[in-house]
Amino acid sequence: MAADPEGGWPARRLRARVIVTGLLVCVSSAPWVAGAAEKITAIVGATVLHPELEGAAVVAADNTILIAGNRITAVGPAAHTRVPHGATVIDAHGKWVIPGLIDSHVHFFQSGDLYTRPDVVDLNSLVPYAEEMRRNRARLAQTFRVYLASGVTSVADVGGPFWNFEVREAARASHAAPRVATTGPLISMVARPQLDLGDPPIIRIDSPDAARELVARELAHKPDFIKVWYIHRAGDDLAAQEAIVRATGDAAHAAGVRLAVHATELVVAKSALRAGADYLVHSVQDEPVDEEFIGLARARHILYCPTLFVTLGYAYALSGLWQPTEAERRLADPDVLTRLHLPEGTAIEHLPERMVKLIREHREPALPTVAMQNLQTVWNAGITVVMGTDAGNIGTVHGPSVFREMDLMQRSGLNTLQVLKSATVNGALTVAVADLGGVAPGKLADLVVLDADPLADLANLSRASYVLRDGRAFQPTELLQPLRAPTAP
Ligand SMILES: [Zn+2]
Repeated sequence: MAADPEGGWPARRLRARVIVTGLLVCVSSAPWVAGAAEKITAIVGATVLHPELEGAAVVAADNTILIAGNRITAVGPAAHTRVPHGATVIDAHGKWVIPGLIDSHVHFFQSGDLYTRPDVVDLNSLVPYAEEMRRNRARLAQTFRVYLASGVTSVADVGGPFWNFEVREAARASHAAPRVATTGPLISMVARPQLDLGDPPIIRIDSPDAARELVARELAHKPDFIKVWYIHRAGDDLAAQEAIVRATGDAAHAAGVRLAVHATELVVAKSALRAGADYLVHSVQDEPVDEEFIGLARARHILYCPTLFVTLGYAYALSGLWQPTEAERRLADPDVLTRLHLPEGTAIEHLPERMVKLIREHREPALPTVAMQNLQTVWNAGITVVMGTDAGNIGTVHGPSVFREMDLMQRSGLNTLQVLKSATVNGALTVAVADLGGVAPGKLADLVVLDADPLADLANLSRASYVLRDGRAFQPTELLQPLRAPTAP
């Protein structure tokens, strides 16, 4: 290490450098050393952010990252990290590199447009639901590209029809796709016949035996999660419902599969935790979480996904107030953006009552303040928070809605690094890929090269100049090119 500048370095940079040098030492004997035929990519001169580390080590300036095939082989100061002859070089001077973002809560069977949840607002008279579903399946490749262009290199789909398992296969078969973790149909306390086209995403279950039977059918497809839609209404028997959730969880756990639960009220969320939930896919929304909740959540080492934007998404879209953000204008599927507004000349009086009321009120929706306070509480209590959007629901578009979600997480009191950690290091726990979520030798090369510092402003996370998935570099503009053409009818 000639011309060692250590003496003159600020302590912050020095610590970062020592750590990455330590990692470099391992390389020579490690199994991820490049094979002769593997393509080498070098990202040179970047400021690398390490959300997987603590304190000053999080930021390492003027670093080079070497990638062989789909793995990172070296990360170190540019001055000391030799770029092999023939490597593809990405000049990242003045740029920031982060691990790929992970959206821990999405639904591919939904598009985010107005026609995607006829159980909430029935707009079959404008666009038949069968047509909407056909569209969502036919445009999967485009939806995958929107995710990558938004810097999202992994997602967890937490519930949909059995064809969700084909979505995971399609993502595995494509280079231009995020990694996809998949869940089958929801084991639900309520029926949603409006969504049943022969392969329903939500199935009403009324006994522990019926739950075990459905779990067995889902386990045949090797799901990443089994999910319960734990809807508890006034008059429902919580103990009987909890028995169904427990039977579901026990059957999933016996097969080594984690139990994800939708439970948005404190009483129901605590019941879900007692019954074996590993992943709460939403905030507790109705009242502040208490000591009992925190104790149960800690004991089960759960993941907690706030999904702060999704209810606002519905409110904006159904009231006619939905407007794309600047990032959504650049990155979202333009077809979905169009379908978030009613066709020109639609007669309001024939719309579902719920929409008519919201359109007439024309009111800015209120922030989910209880959920936002609970996020701060659970974070401070050491619960593992993961970033997730619930994308696909009306008003929450696939891809760039991650930026809306992260903005609300920050407005809840988390700092930019904590938000980034929830969207990377913690998200790796949702998709259960240990080699994700950090920038270090041996890790999978899922990375985002950003034009500006995301720790200074989270909005800069939408400014990717390159997104790498499995070591393959894409530019967002190139990814989005096929979306400019509409889907053939
Ligand atoms: Zn959801």
